[in-house]
Amino acid sequence: MHIHEYQAKEIFGQYGIQTPRSVLINNLSEAESACESVAGNVWVVKAQVHAGGRGKGGGVILARSIDEVENACTNLLGSNLVTPQTDSKGLPINKLLIEGGQNIERELYLGLLVDRQTQKITILASTEGGMDIEKVASDTPDKIIKFSVDPLGTLSVKDCEYIANNLDLNDELINQFSTTLLGLYQIFIEKDVSLIEINPLITTKENKLLALDGKIDFDDNALYRHEDIFDLRDTSQEEEKEILASEHQLNYISLDGTIGCMVNGAGLAMATMDLIGHHGGSPANFLDVGGGTTAERVAKAFELIQTESNVKGILVNIFGGIVRCDLIAEGILQAIEKVGLKLPIVVRLEGTNAKEGLDLLGKSEFSVHTEADLTKAAIKIVELSK
Ligand code: ADP
Ligand code: MG
Repeated sequence: MHIHEYQAKEIFGQYGIQTPRSVLINNLSEAESACESVAGNVWVVKAQVHAGGRGKGGGVILARSIDEVENACTNLLGSNLVTPQTDSKGLPINKLLIEGGQNIERELYLGLLVDRQTQKITILASTEGGMDIEKVASDTPDKIIKFSVDPLGTLSVKDCEYIANNLDLNDELINQFSTTLLGLYQIFIEKDVSLIEINPLITTKENKLLALDGKIDFDDNALYRHEDIFDLRDTSQEEEKEILASEHQLNYISLDGTIGCMVNGAGLAMATMDLIGHHGGSPANFLDVGGGTTAERVAKAFELIQTESNVKGILVNIFGGIVRCDLIAEGILQAIEKVGLKLPIVVRLEGTNAKEGLDLLGKSEFSVHTEADLTKAAIKIVELSK
């Protein structure tokens, strides 16, 4: 689950991480008093959307008067922000953060994530903050400092100082850096975070270290332990289809291809998408209906796929391990009738009662193409979707 910058900064504050003074607003009428409470004479108006690269997309605006702040608010509120990290539609701007403009000296990067290769929490730090850290990592990997934390140990002040020294921070900033990094680490552990990032972490002309931006992604599988975090969810930033899918325990991600996919199991879904690509097609979605799926869920899944306007055909790929393929076949037929499905559809069933399932589909009044072999099924749907 993603949260907004202002929410991340609120959590930072609870863990001793310094951020610039800022006030969140929902309406233009709140802008003036927000500027007054922030104080100063330079402000930055920041669109609150669940995507990075806001600066590049015009969602971070420097303003030198209250008039300029209000102009920025008028332009941003109610519009959609397109950034290099969103699709072409962008994300709706419903809230703005009015923040004090800072005298930036350096822009650093600091982040923590779980490194799947080492299976450890890994700290990433760089002197090249503020810009695309992925680009820094690929073009100049030596500019990224990597530090793994022993899962049985903990992060010490010494570790923090070691990293700070590699970032060329002076003594006073080193202390602030340790507080910041220890805070991030504590948030990471306590809140079941999958990624936490400050980009940029700035040093100011006044010799302060401040988190100018904040990003926290939480592990969805652990959200049941953190009701307070779940309350931070903003569904206006999520795809409608993905919300609908999560309500029915379907794992769904929209893509821009033409072949709708319905598969049980995430790994099998990935393999199915690869195979479609291999044979010249492109998937319209990733959809995992779950290992122990039911006929009802299959019907919901069809409804979802059907709402995608770019879909020209559907490939169903079910491996009957826990589920019985004949029950799935019945579910598919019911769903086709209920949803009024007109698109070409290829069904591949394998595993428990696969033969019975395929027979049922073959005998039905609907024109469902059946296949026991996945490669043949992929070739067939690519052909039918042309
Ligand atoms: P994003 O990463 O989504 O583009 P950031 O919050 O990182 O958004 O802002 C982008 C850039 O805008 C920063 O790298 C910084 O240079 C500038 N910026 C952001 N907030 C402030 C601020 N309060 N004062 C001065 N400059 C800012
Ligand atoms: Mg940023």
